[in-house]
Amino acid sequence: METGKYILNYLIPQRCMLCGDIINEIKLHYPICSECSNNLLQLDKNCCNICGFPLISESTRCLRCRDSKFNYISNVSLYVYSGNVKEVIYQYKFQHKKSISLFFAAKIADIIIKKYPDVIIVPVPGRKIVKKKIGWEHIDLISNILKQKYKLPVQKILTRKGSKAQKTLSREKRAENLRKNIKLRKRIKKLPEQVVLLDDVFTTGTTINECAGILKEAGVSKIYSLTIAID
Ligand SMILES: [Zn+2]
Ligand SMILES: [Zn+2]
Repeated sequence: METGKYILNYLIPQRCMLCGDIINEIKLHYPICSECSNNLLQLDKNCCNICGFPLISESTRCLRCRDSKFNYISNVSLYVYSGNVKEVIYQYKFQHKKSISLFFAAKIADIIIKKYPDVIIVPVPGRKIVKKKIGWEHIDLISNILKQKYKLPVQKILTRKGSKAQKTLSREKRAENLRKNIKLRKRIKKLPEQVVLLDDVFTTGTTINECAGILKEAGVSKIYSLTIAID
C-alpha cells in the first residue's frame, strides 16, 4: 500500500492545494508545501491568556474573556482563522480532503509534546451524521493519527447525539443544544486528571466551555483547550 503511494507520487506528482506547486518533499503525505505551510498566519506571543486570541493592547485578556468565568484554563490555537487557514479548514471539513488531517495532526502533535506532555487528549465529539456520510469525522481522524503515529495519549470519553450543525444556532441555543447532546461516555474505568480538549475552530468558545463543564463536573481537575484556529 505504502509502496504504491510512493510510485503514484512519482507518476502523478502531488500539488500544493494553496499555490499549485509540485510538492518535492516525498515524505509529506499532505497537500501543502513547506512554503505555504510557513506562511499560514500563526499566532504570536501577545495573546489573550484565556482564549489565545491576538491582543492589540497591553492587557492580558481580550474583551470576550474579560468578565467571564470559564470551565477550561486556557485555549491555544495553531492559527488565526483567516485567509489561507480558512481555505485549508474549508477543504478539510466540507470538501473532505482527508490527507489534510496529516498536516494538522503534525502541527498539533508538536504543541502537545511541547506544552502538554502527559496530558490526555480528549477530542470534542463530532456529529455522527458526518461519520455516517463520509466514513470518518474530522477531529476524530486527527485524534487517531495522534494516537497511532505520534503515540500520544488519546481518550474518546465524550460522546454526542443530535445532528444539528452548531453554526446555525445562536450562542444561547448552542450552549443548550450542547448540554443536551454531549455526554460523558458510560463505563469509563478511570477519568484522567488533566485533559486537553481538541477541536477545529474556536469561535465563541461555547463548545469548549460546555465540554469542559461536563469533564469538570465529572471530576477532571485541569482542562485545557487546543484548537486548529481561532476566529
Ligand atoms: Zn504551496
Ligand atoms: Zn480571550
